[in-house]
Amino acid sequence: MPDYEAVIGLEVHVQLKTRSKIFCGCPTTFGAEPNTSVCPVCLGLPGSLPVLNETALRYSILTGIMLGSTISSFSKFDRKNYFYPDLPKNYQISQYDLPLCVGGELEIEFEGKRKRIGITRVHLEEDAGKLVHAEVEGEDSGVDFNRTGVPLLEIVSEPEISSPEEAFAYLKGLKLTLQYLGVSDCDMEKGSLRCDANVSVRPRGEKLLGVKVEVKNMNSFRAVQKALAYEIERQNRAIAEGQRIVQETRLWEAESEMTHPMRSKEEAHDYRYFPEPDLVPVMVDHALQEVLRASLPEAPLKRRDRLVAQYALPEYDVEVLTSERELADYFEACVTAGAEPKAASNLIMGEMLRLLKERALTLEGCKITPKHIVEILALVSSGAITGTTGKEVFAEMFETGKRPGEIVHSGGLAQISDQAELDRLADEVIAKNTKSVEDYRSGKAKAIGFLVGQVMKATKGKANPQMVNEILKKKLEKDSSKR
Ligand code: ADP
Ligand code: MG
Ligand code: ZN
Repeated sequence: MPDYEAVIGLEVHVQLKTRSKIFCGCPTTFGAEPNTSVCPVCLGLPGSLPVLNETALRYSILTGIMLGSTISSFSKFDRKNYFYPDLPKNYQISQYDLPLCVGGELEIEFEGKRKRIGITRVHLEEDAGKLVHAEVEGEDSGVDFNRTGVPLLEIVSEPEISSPEEAFAYLKGLKLTLQYLGVSDCDMEKGSLRCDANVSVRPRGEKLLGVKVEVKNMNSFRAVQKALAYEIERQNRAIAEGQRIVQETRLWEAESEMTHPMRSKEEAHDYRYFPEPDLVPVMVDHALQEVLRASLPEAPLKRRDRLVAQYALPEYDVEVLTSERELADYFEACVTAGAEPKAASNLIMGEMLRLLKERALTLEGCKITPKHIVEILALVSSGAITGTTGKEVFAEMFETGKRPGEIVHSGGLAQISDQAELDRLADEVIAKNTKSVEDYRSGKAKAIGFLVGQVMKATKGKANPQMVNEILKKKLEKDSSKR
């Protein structure tokens, strides 16, 4: 039996983060009362005329430039005709033969290796409404047209993805890129990113593509990965049993973790595409392209490489720090303000992310500025406060936005490095904890950790831990040599 390999191409729809819809002024607010964000244009009422949203166009061109696409100097909109109750005009305005962006690639990272996946095209279109089905028998189903006319960007990949895991990496990379650009939330749960996966198999080394199957209805990146794995397995098995793969659309069913046929090629729609007569063609000049190119952020993977090289940070740190553009910006602002890179990274990845997560906050609403970070790091590294106190000060800073120096001063939190004071505390702890003292003397070096901890506890974490350690060691060793 020949060895088969999988070939995957993804069609991703993302909702553009514009305030109004693509061809009218209705708001794109998620979760509004059904049919409250509608007007004659997006309801497709006779006599209404669409006008293209400029921000949607700019976002699309930005995405194209970021992906290295060629931006068409002339593109147009077309009507894709079909009947469905969520489509009030009976056609969707999309782009057919002259899309806005052609070609390009996305660099992805997969199992530590980089790979470029070709992009076929990027085009603009409008979303359809949403059927709201009755949950109880006897109740009516309805249509919510709020989503009708929400701008979508369709990004079609070349069939160059080789495994379900690679497809996952592609989606992750695309999402991060679009988030860096600020053009989409890419929140699959809110439906602002949707993915149709095309997959075929062929004997390894074969040049021609096999017959593809399109899988729809996945609601997470993991679901895409699972659906593809299932589908590849199904196709391999069918071929091994001597069957032929038929070109069809299949639906992923999350509960059973299986795909089921939806429609075959014979039943496929003929969309009768034709140019949209109510919209003028789109002509993008060089000047607009250059303006947009100048505003392009650094690509996520490029930024990762740069942060590793520039600040000598471990890969792991940089992966976390670049997982959001705002976080990477924040980190770099701290370093620019004077923070030591690794110390800043530790603080941000540790306390900062922990507290943000705990309070379900984003960096945007965070009261800690890069200046605060520089100051608190200086307090700890100079020994003015202990690491333990640092955490306490950080938490208060997080709540109040007060300067760390002020918090230390008003709370009497300065580190205790006074020899006489620490001597006295060490004696007390030794006297009270005879068991640990015995343990230490009988060779259990670790027992000293407990004793240090007792001194720290007595000072509410303010004692200089190195000094405490040394003092205790000296005392214990001196006493044991006496015996
Ligand atoms: P359709 O006309 O059915 O939409 P396209 O040629 O536009 O097909 O391709 C849609 C998607 O399917 C693209 O992402 C493309 O890379 C992918 N694709 C095309 N042919 C194959 C194939 N034989 N195997 C896997 N993916 C494919
Ligand atoms: Mg297609
Ligand atoms: Zn409208």
